[in-house]
Amino acid sequence: MDQTPAGRHLVYQTSLMSALLDGIYDGDTTVATLLEHGDFGLGTFNALDGEMLILDGVCYRMRADGTVTPAAADDLTPFAVVTEFVPSVSIRVDEPITRDEAVALINETMQSSNYLYAVRLTGEFDWVRVRAVERQEKPYRPMNEAIRGEKTIEFGRSAGVVAGFRTPLYGQGIGVPGGHVHYIDAAHRHGGHVLDFALLSGTIDICIGTDLHLELPLTAEFKNAELSPDDLAAQVDQAENRR
Ligand code: ZN
Repeated sequence: MDQTPAGRHLVYQTSLMSALLDGIYDGDTTVATLLEHGDFGLGTFNALDGEMLILDGVCYRMRADGTVTPAAADDLTPFAVVTEFVPSVSIRVDEPITRDEAVALINETMQSSNYLYAVRLTGEFDWVRVRAVERQEKPYRPMNEAIRGEKTIEFGRSAGVVAGFRTPLYGQGIGVPGGHVHYIDAAHRHGGHVLDFALLSGTIDICIGTDLHLELPLTAEFKNAELSPDDLAAQVDQAENRR
């Protein structure tokens, strides 16, 4: 039975963005557990071995070369955010828009910037620029060292989905304030962590998140992590938002 009061919507998250930044790349949560909490989401895999995207209940792993494979149920994640995607708003896009214009459209449509939002852009993209980190070896380095020299890939015109979450500024360190989105093409062959894109036409669906269920790892590494560095905002920005 659905016990959720009307208007409330649950988002499940394992671990913290600040833990990833500190080099906590191994978690204890399985893909199967994530899928119990929703059919939509994103994150990464243990050892930063690929970017994660969950769409329509299927979990995909997108590696540094931009290729995609389905994830296994027992694959582990050090960071992921999941929800049951129930769009409350859909915006039709009939003319080409940039990432900034898409963000402006989403911001205009939200009832408040103080909630989490799951966002899904489905359509024809002129181009999408992504990155995916390389699998890391122990001893793990902090994220901003690990991604130094990361490669970006630009996909040309393709049909696909850009999906992820918009987190309020107060979520700094819990998530990535602003947008954190991943791309996968319609054939589920290529994708990655989105740096920038141009959407030709399509639909933007938005699902509000009012409740956050945050599950913290029970690993020794997490217990000893430094989660509140003085330059947290700059670290998040450098790790996730560079174009
Ligand atoms: Zn990402």
